[in-house]
Formats: sequence, C-alpha cells, structure tokens
Amino acid sequence: MISRLDLRGASGDPRDLLPRADLDVEAALETVRPICDAVHHRGEAALIELTEKFDGVRIDSIRVPKEALDEAAEALDPTVRAALQESIRRARLVHREQRRTDHTTAVVPGGTVTERWVPVDRVGLYVPGGRAVYPSSVVMNVVPAQEAGVPSIAVASPAQKEFGGLPHPTILAACALLGVDEVYSVGGAQAIAMFAHGAGPCARADLVTGPGNIYVAAAKRLLKGRIGIDAEAGPTEIAVLADATANPVHIAADLISQAEHDVVAAAVLVTDSPELADAVEAELPRQVEATRHSARIAEALAGKQSAIVLVEDIDQGLDVVNGYAAEHLEIQTADAPAVAARVRNAGAVFVGPYAPVSLGDYAAGSNHVLPTGGCACHSSGLSVQSFLRGIHVVAYDEQALADVAHHVVALADAEDLPAHGAAIRARYDWKVPNPS
Ligand code: NAD
Repeated sequence: MISRLDLRGASGDPRDLLPRADLDVEAALETVRPICDAVHHRGEAALIELTEKFDGVRIDSIRVPKEALDEAAEALDPTVRAALQESIRRARLVHREQRRTDHTTAVVPGGTVTERWVPVDRVGLYVPGGRAVYPSSVVMNVVPAQEAGVPSIAVASPAQKEFGGLPHPTILAACALLGVDEVYSVGGAQAIAMFAHGAGPCARADLVTGPGNIYVAAAKRLLKGRIGIDAEAGPTEIAVLADATANPVHIAADLISQAEHDVVAAAVLVTDSPELADAVEAELPRQVEATRHSARIAEALAGKQSAIVLVEDIDQGLDVVNGYAAEHLEIQTADAPAVAARVRNAGAVFVGPYAPVSLGDYAAGSNHVLPTGGCACHSSGLSVQSFLRGIHVVAYDEQALADVAHHVVALADAEDLPAHGAAIRARYDWKVPNPS
C-alpha cells in the first residue's frame, strides 16, 4: 500500500532524498493557453462555453445572484454554520495580529523613509471545487484579504451541475457569512484568466490567490505579471517526523487525512523507529478500508510521492524533512516543541499529538493555503502580508539632499550613469563636483 525508503546512512542533498509526484505544469500550459486566450478575447461568452465543456453545465450568467448567496446561508446546516463561524473567528484572531503598521525611519535630520503598507485594490480568490468542495478555503482566502483591508474582493469557484450551475451551496454560504457578495460560477484556468483580464461583470483584479489543480497552477504561471499570484499551489503534502513514542494509529489517520485530497497527494512518515514504521504500515490498510474515499486514498498512498522513510535518528530526520520542505509537517516525538524549533522549512508545523493537520485545515486559526512542492524553503503560506504592498515614501529636504549629494554623484558616475548625478547637481546650480 505504501513504499518503504531506507535512508539510514544515506548522503547527498537532502532536497533530493524524498520523491515527489510528477506534476508537469509546463505541459499543462499548452492546455490552458487557448482557454486563457478565449477568456481574454471573448469574455463571459467564452466562460459560459468553457463551463459547459469542463464542468458539464450550461449557465446563463457567471455572476452568482445575491439571492442565491442569501438562500445558501439560510439553508446552511446549523452544525456547519457553527463550525464555519468558529473557524472564521479563530482565523480572524490570528490574521488580525499580522496587520502591519506604517513605520518612518529618520535617516538623517530632514531625511525620512516611511514604509507604508497598502492593500491591493482588488483581489480574486479561487476556491477549488473539482474533486471536493472547500468552504474552508473561502475562510482561508477571505479572512486575510479582509484583515489586510482589501476594498474589493471577488470569489470564483467551479459551477456544480447538481446545483444548477452555481458553486457548491456551502461555498456560497461561507461567502455570505463572511460578507462577500461578488461570487462567480467559474472554475479552473478560466477563473484565473477572468481575474487577470476581466470578463463580463467581473472587473480585472490585481492579485489572484488560492489553491487549485494543475490547470489553475498553469494559468497562474501563464498570467503571472499580468496579475499578481500567491503561489502555484500543487497537490497537498503531509510529512510526519516521529519517534518510538508516537501513536501509530494517530499517524496512520493523519497520513490518510491528507491522502484524501487527491490521488497525487503526498503522505510521508519519517521515523527512526522500525517498530513504529511496521505498526503504521500495518495500520494503514485497516483504516483505508474503513474510510469513504478509500480508492483515492489508496492510490495516493501507493504513489511514488508517498513513503515510510527510515532514518538513523531524529537529527537525520530533521535534515530529511528540512530538505523536503513539506506543506504540512507534524512533529510527533518526545519533546516535540524542541524538535519543532529546529524545523527550518515547512509550510506549517504541527507540534505534538494533539495538533493534527486536520485541525489546521479547519479550525486552528492558522492558514491552510500553504506552499507545496518544496517551495516552503523560500515561500510562506497565505497571510495578511500576501495582500499588502510595502511602499517606501522618501522625503528629504534641501539640506538633507545637499549633505548626501556628493555620494549620489560618485555612485552614479561609478555606474556610468552621469545623468543620474546631473539630476542632483541641477538642484544646486551644478555646484556639486562631478567626478568625471
Ligand atoms: P479545482 O477547482 O482546482 O479544478 C476544477 C476545475 O478544473 C474545473 O472546474 C475545470 O474547469 C478544470 N479542469 C478539469 N479538467 C480539465 C481539463 N482536462 N482541462 C482543462 N481544465 C480542466 O478542483 P480540484 O481538481 O479538486 O483540485 C483542487 C486541488 O487543490 C487539489 O489538488 C487539492 O489538494 C488542492 N487544495 C489545496 C489546498 C491548499 O491549501 N494547498 C486547499 C484545498 C485544496
């Protein structure tokens, strides 16, 4: 069901030790290019055709009527409503603390640099809806955008045939609970193109965020620059670093929980305990058989991206998981906080036996839109910061500029850009010495 990898005594770049799924975003570019072009040139008409082609439902208009949002909120199961409200409350607590304040540095008397944090004007948030529906992703996208102060927020999610071409009602209800009323029944690459170019009732956005499948990732790669993107989120990943003190039943359940997302999802256990490895391996089929999406999970666990990995000790385990840079990393060892403190690369770290990834998926308060595919070595998950720009505001008076003028002129000259120096010298009747 899951392969074994023995890395005891292995050497080499830790970034290459664990296999990943083959995800050929470059090849998908060829698929999404005509889709994005069609949206660019033919707007809403193309979006309606593409929705019929890929989601199997003919819609009259891409914009979800306000009444549909209100009705979905009304009809929402009270248990799910309470859970969403608690998820939103916790996410707000965490993301509100991420707000940035403007800061002014007095560089010299009369010379200041202020960093002003300004939210993007308009953002498009993508909420996946192919294999599964993700109202939790509405929360994880919308809350940081709102806390950042983005004035215009639109959500897109695939049209669902069984709901008359609207996005899934729980997604609509989550939008309504969050006060977002601009929602589009559009999925896949065409949703990213809609935000990048504008189409019909949907105005062009400055930034698009949110996870999605390979077509969503390819469209982000294609249109990046035309529109800002958060990341090309790939299939989900869980790595668990565990020692002999960990509970194999819990670990198997956690690996399965992320394998449930996608047949190419990665589930990796890294352990220095052969006994734990055996116990988890024995436990996995028992739990997979009993769960609803067992076929999808079995395929994900059997994929080359999933493995039980044996290491010499927890130090080597840390090297391996730091090299892998998982989207989600659980630490289930004795003294887990101390081990977690040594993690350098991970989208999010879950510490100890009572912080499973599922908690972070829904209700820890942390964000679940996280870097995948090893990108956690250079990127962060979605946060308030993702929706802000830091603008440097430079204010120097006459004397402050005069005091530094000779340095600017010297550096401009060293770069063979004398006109840069001239822009300073002109202000002082050309009296600043010109080195050349
Ligand atoms: P999706 O909404 O990303 O994609 C569905 C859309 O794909 C469809 O509407 C359709 O337009 C398009 N599509 C399908 N087949 C196509 C084809 N052959 N050519 C062109 N377009 C096509 O939903 P999904 O497929 O379920 O993928 C969601 C992904 O998001 C999963 O991999 C999941 O693991 C991931 N995810 C990640 C996070 C995170 O935080 N990292 C959270 C939730 C979901």
